[in-house]
Amino acid sequence: MTLPLCAQAPCASDEKHGDRPWIVDRFDDIKVIRYEVPGFESLPLEQKELVYYLAEAAKSGRDILFDQNCAMNLPVRRTLETVYKYYEGDRRCAEWKALEKYLKKVWFANGIHHHYSNDKFTPGFSEQYLRQVIATLPSDRFGQELNALRDKVCVAIFDPEAFPTRLNQKDGEDLLWTSSSNYYRNVRQAEAEKFYADMARRDAGNPEPVSYGLNSQLVRDEVTGELYERTWKVGGMYSKAIERIVYWLEKACEVAVEPQKSTIATLIDYYRTGDLKKFDEYNIRWVKDTQSNVDFNNGFIEDYGDPLGRKASWEANVNFVDTAACHRTTIISENAQWFEDHSPVDARFKKKTVKGVSAKVITVAMLGGDCYPATPIGINLPNADWIRKEYGSKSVTIDNITAAYDMAAHGNGFNEEFVLREDDRERMAKYAKLADDLHTDLHECLGHGSGQLLPGVSAGALRSYGSTLEEARADLFGLYYLGDEKLVELGITPSFDVAKAGYAKYIMNGMMTQLARIELGKDVEEAHMRNRKLISEWCYEQGRADKIIEWQVKEGKRYVVVNDFERLRALFGRLLCEIQRIKSEGDYEAGRELVEKYAVKIDPDLHKEVRDRYQALGIEPYGGFVNPEYELVEKDGRVVDVKISYPADYVAQMMDYGENYSFLDLEN
Ligand code: ZN
Repeated sequence: MTLPLCAQAPCASDEKHGDRPWIVDRFDDIKVIRYEVPGFESLPLEQKELVYYLAEAAKSGRDILFDQNCAMNLPVRRTLETVYKYYEGDRRCAEWKALEKYLKKVWFANGIHHHYSNDKFTPGFSEQYLRQVIATLPSDRFGQELNALRDKVCVAIFDPEAFPTRLNQKDGEDLLWTSSSNYYRNVRQAEAEKFYADMARRDAGNPEPVSYGLNSQLVRDEVTGELYERTWKVGGMYSKAIERIVYWLEKACEVAVEPQKSTIATLIDYYRTGDLKKFDEYNIRWVKDTQSNVDFNNGFIEDYGDPLGRKASWEANVNFVDTAACHRTTIISENAQWFEDHSPVDARFKKKTVKGVSAKVITVAMLGGDCYPATPIGINLPNADWIRKEYGSKSVTIDNITAAYDMAAHGNGFNEEFVLREDDRERMAKYAKLADDLHTDLHECLGHGSGQLLPGVSAGALRSYGSTLEEARADLFGLYYLGDEKLVELGITPSFDVAKAGYAKYIMNGMMTQLARIELGKDVEEAHMRNRKLISEWCYEQGRADKIIEWQVKEGKRYVVVNDFERLRALFGRLLCEIQRIKSEGDYEAGRELVEKYAVKIDPDLHKEVRDRYQALGIEPYGGFVNPEYELVEKDGRVVDVKISYPADYVAQMMDYGENYSFLDLEN
């Protein structure tokens, strides 16, 4: 499972990181950001080398994902890359610009369909133009195979009827027949479902079932009509790319130490045999290894791209522990009992003994496959239920990626548009990132785990309001303690100013800016969004007479401001107390009333104003990344160092990957 970036309104930060821009490219609805890898330089040499080899392995499977997303993706990409490299005509005309933009989008989406909406891109240039451009180049630039596919490439790009959507999820249609992904070939949905149901039946009663179908394409034999699997392994489908992955994993194995050495060796074994039992064995070794500083994912992991949720796309990332950030979550967890004892809730609802969860924070060093260029900000693996139950899972958040998003938001005009007061803007610039991180830590490490139900109360008593109220409870726990002197005493925050920044941003988001993501005319539906609105609106109303929170209008625009942060904190405490009571007693009616009164309905005028102001800023809704580059430094045949650099050219990186990490044939 992955955690998507919660598209919470970004907040500016004024940390200085040299003069290089954070956003390296923008086109359509996309911004491309570079990320830094703090701490890489001070890793011991063996770990740097390990990162290098795992990073090469992470880049080597890129073509696999392109082919999985749609069988025409590789021919389209290579045609356009060849044109892009060699065309000597006018590169300033509108049609060329449109072709360039289209290629940037294909790179970003790993194919001809939008990475998020799954719809096929509409090119802004004509088929005639593309054919003219191609005709100016010697045909051997493309090679025989690509020339033979020219008509098919044009159909894939220009015919709106061909491959219209990568992933169709409309209930009632044949989801395999209507999806353009390449996980099934010539197979109807009902047949595939039967194929795997039969497989599961033959294995019924096995407490440790493998993830059937995870690493193969399901195909119909053209002669016999029988269905069979083409397994993704050395010697099987995608062999040429997998051989490269294995080559680099073997190098990694040489410098890794136990228990990681055996983990990598098991993964190699799996890639060689395609045996899904080996994959489970690898996952168990991987999840048990909580000691290795450098860690990685590499394989067929997430099944979001298969309409049947069975076949996994190829992805990779390489990372290492962010020691400073983990230090913070460890301190919080170690003091879990103090926080529980001092919370404002009724003593009957408190846990006598409470154990904090220490979340691991990592720094990512390389993104590959389905994690590149768009990437999740958190990962929770493995996915197999029985392994999770028996061995647990590893849950991490990726700090340098969220930091890069934050830096990229600097100067996008958001705070200038929505934050009225200069002192709030200054505090947010200085502390909003720390306040956000800390609030997340307190929410995750302590908030959800605090409190207890009275005897006889069932966990599901709050029914459909349960998740909103649970998120509100965890958020309030975090908000209340964000402003506690204890955090200063523990050395986690410098002063109450951090809480002021966090509170001002939270209230503004809850009452106002988060509405930008909801379509006009709709209610607030999602639990986290409801929870933020509930907390903010309740506090607004409770403090209304004393203007603790206040609406102000300046030049026709509305702003929400916090006038008294100490008393706002007291309100957080009171609401925490009440929501804990509701949960502990299972008071469904009171819970329903809170949610329906404060969290659901939107003032239509305010809604429209927020959306208009947000859209006028022109902030791209989607973001992705360019990777850093690593280089081995050798002396007398021995590796003596690994150098890292940060290229800031999206097109150059894509062309480099196309040239040096493209191992598959055009048709697979
Ligand atoms: Zn939560």
